[in-house]
Amino acid sequence: MKKRAVFLDRDGTLVKDSGYFHDAERVEFLPGVIEGLRRLQSAGFLLIVVSNQSGVGRGYFPECDTIAVNEKITELLKKEGVRIAKFYYCPHAPDAGCACRKPKPLLVARAAKEFGVAITSSFFIGNHATDVETGRAAGLTAMFLGSAAEAASAGADAHAPDMRAAAEEILKTGSRRGGRFAVR
Ligand SMILES: [Mg+2]
Ligand SMILES: [Zn+2]
Repeated sequence: MKKRAVFLDRDGTLVKDSGYFHDAERVEFLPGVIEGLRRLQSAGFLLIVVSNQSGVGRGYFPECDTIAVNEKITELLKKEGVRIAKFYYCPHAPDAGCACRKPKPLLVARAAKEFGVAITSSFFIGNHATDVETGRAAGLTAMFLGSAAEAASAGADAHAPDMRAAAEEILKTGSRRGGRFAVR
């Protein structure tokens, strides 16, 4: 039996992004994130993070900083009863020509294989056009966190102002192929 999953961008989606964020001591969840994730988890969704961390490849900070931030997020969410199945990230610079940097869907595909994810009933939530592109390329329903206008210009299947609203929308309407999101 395959499982449904919500793939999540990290910076600017789960936590405040100050630009190349890499300080585990300053992890701060955005409004609605904990409640939204809790709801999705309760509904049976696996929670999987897919993040570009080009600050590593650009030499702005070491990879251990990315790992420390991921561990801090894991620890803080655990206290809230929320479990992230796994963090996937691309550490490469944009000009490295790697296969894993979003909007390429490789990390989603890797996670889907590893966890037995039912792609067509799963989602990608992010705050950037590349997240929408990644989700769509992977065959997921792509939800944009932001305004309707931004979501439309990014080509998103759906949008929500924050994670709590995103979770409500997902629980209410189902996947792009299974529910109201079947508009495209
Ligand atoms: Mg982001
Ligand atoms: Zn990469």
